[in-house]
Amino acid sequence: MPASAEHKKSDPLLEVKGLVKSFSLKKTGFFQPPRFVFAVSGVSFSLDRGETLGLVGESGCGKTTTGRAILRLIEPTSGEINFEGQNVARFSEHRLKQFRRNAQMIFQDPFASLNPRMTVEDIVGEPLQVHGIGARNERAERVAAVLEKVGLEPDYMRRFPHEFSGGQRQRIGIARVLTLNPALIIADEPVSALDVSIQAQIINLMVRLQDELELSYLFISHDLAVVEHISTRVAIMYLGKIVEIAPADNIYHHPQHPYTRSLLSAIPIPDPRKKITRTLLQGDLPSAVDPPSGCAFRTRCPRAQKICAEQTPEMKEMEPGHFAACHLL
Ligand code: SF4
Repeated sequence: MPASAEHKKSDPLLEVKGLVKSFSLKKTGFFQPPRFVFAVSGVSFSLDRGETLGLVGESGCGKTTTGRAILRLIEPTSGEINFEGQNVARFSEHRLKQFRRNAQMIFQDPFASLNPRMTVEDIVGEPLQVHGIGARNERAERVAAVLEKVGLEPDYMRRFPHEFSGGQRQRIGIARVLTLNPALIIADEPVSALDVSIQAQIINLMVRLQDELELSYLFISHDLAVVEHISTRVAIMYLGKIVEIAPADNIYHHPQHPYTRSLLSAIPIPDPRKKITRTLLQGDLPSAVDPPSGCAFRTRCPRAQKICAEQTPEMKEMEPGHFAACHLL
């Protein structure tokens, strides 16, 4: 039986349980004990078929490391990642190759992720070649079809990346991951390098492709406004941990965690007559090398109390499917 047929339809497509990724720090003295920095410390969530989970937090909070560890582009330190009900860490070489066809990544900088010396045909068709799929003319047909899907002329196949605008390059990046018909796409800040008007076009394209191809997205962004229209649920990450996760509507209309409220306060309101109370974030994200004790957000939290320095808050379910970690909830 093929591996994909073994899982139940009701299983989540992706399940991440207690994911940890640490990096060892360089020793500065001979007798110094080994030290580690925890980029991701105990992240858990699941992603259903056809769903988009927005993973949001400031730069350096561990969201990109989480995405890369899920795809095993870097090896997790501990925790479990299940794809279609199977533990990714136990995949045979053959199953890992299948997984890499099924789970793809879109990168932030479309120009840096496209080889300037390759034509669009070679860039978009490369994953097919790597996986030994189809003869050259069949691959060219597939490339033309996916270019059309992402709104580009098939004639563009013979051009090079520098001949395209930023938005067109990101379309090429998306076409490249679509060639293998993946079920899961991890999109790492896919629109942050683009102008605002182009961002909306790319997000609309991703929404359309999701409907047509039943894709699941883990959409990583530092900006809550960007993920609003694409996310089914949103997870807020701070210093290696998820501090709130909920259906998108709850995050935008009933945020519970003080950090989520601060992130929402930073979103500009287009109507100047509308008055809102803003709780703007003070200071920078603390270093993951020496994180604050208790609640990691306490050094910037306007509501911090004594207990926040002493105990790490546990995740609590505030209402069905809405979890947050804060002592005051
Ligand atoms: Fe703020 Fe304390 Fe809640 Fe952390 S636990 S978010 S410091 S109130």
